[in-house]
Amino acid sequence: MTKFKFDIILYGGPGSGKGTQAGLLLKQLKAVTLNMGAELRKTAKMKTSIGREVAKYIDAGKIAPLKVSHKIVRNFFKKVPATQRIVFDGYPRTMAQVKLLDTLLKKHNREVLFIYLKLPMSVAKARLKKRAEIEGRHDDTDPAAIQNRIDVFNRQSKNIIRHYKNNQQLIVIDGVGSVAAVHKRIMRAIS
Ligand code: ADP
Ligand code: MG
Repeated sequence: MTKFKFDIILYGGPGSGKGTQAGLLLKQLKAVTLNMGAELRKTAKMKTSIGREVAKYIDAGKIAPLKVSHKIVRNFFKKVPATQRIVFDGYPRTMAQVKLLDTLLKKHNREVLFIYLKLPMSVAKARLKKRAEIEGRHDDTDPAAIQNRIDVFNRQSKNIIRHYKNNQQLIVIDGVGSVAAVHKRIMRAIS
């Protein structure tokens, strides 16, 4: 599988299992990951004006300013060798980000598959509740922040999914079931 030639975007609502599945794919494909949420949380911890600004967005469950996420993606691309596959986790989340990412992928001669982890929001919410207990992520414990993230997903997802469908890059995966079962579905779909 080291010759796997596609990058992968893991897409889905909050709690859909992107981070979990990204971890498994990294091992299988010897890929590197860009976890935009984690990068933004790092930025938010910086005691700078940008850090404080980003913290506000994260705590509210809102999309951070495009200039910030764009800088993170650009810097990430600079570090990744051409032969190294990338798994995008939590990026892109808006059509503006989709366009930026398309441009960067093209510039770097990379091809991407878009994996949509599809599952009922009720199942995802139950998982988020558990994750809040385990990881204590601030934005997982605030119901308003969770609802904002769900709203963002509901607002953006149709256009984003349609975009990748039109480009014949869309793979829909049933996200209900055990971690291993979902991983198996993904591997079967991309092999
Ligand atoms: P996302 O990155 O999409 O927000 P995560 O990968 O962090 O989602 O998963 C959210 C929570 O659900 C985590 O606590 C994780 O352990 C759990 N989880 C992920 N996939 C599954 C699954 N298939 N079945 C049950 N729980 C899962
Ligand atoms: Mg995540």
